[in-house]
Amino acid sequence: MDKGKRYVPVATPETKHFWDGASQGRLVVQQCQQCEHTYFPPRPFCCECGSRDVAPRECSGRARLYSYVISHRAAPGFEAPYSIAVVELEEGPRLMTNIVNVPQTPEALVLDMPLRVTFKELSTEITLPLFEPQGAAS
Ligand code: ZN
Repeated sequence: MDKGKRYVPVATPETKHFWDGASQGRLVVQQCQQCEHTYFPPRPFCCECGSRDVAPRECSGRARLYSYVISHRAAPGFEAPYSIAVVELEEGPRLMTNIVNVPQTPEALVLDMPLRVTFKELSTEITLPLFEPQGAAS
């Protein structure tokens, strides 16, 4: 990757429902129509039962902080310090994201804290779902 060049994800057919949803302010994962397993990241088949009968499922956007690390090195598009977190959605799947609108400190970032999704537009095609504390003023 070029130094200083910002990494922007690219939508593929498998992830299109996710990026389309995000650009409309919706967090969309997938759910198996056979066993009802809800999962992320996008795959054309269910990771529980192998069925290809899967459909997009819109999530509530509520999540809890599952784990995180704080990076003290600036990265393209991120000022240090910033958190790299795994959140667990109310619907079950976990996803890697950043926690925003809160100090990036261990004191402020408490495991299991309630979070809600917020969206950051990176380009016309790509909007990233980020998470902030429930009750944050944004
Ligand atoms: Zn399944």
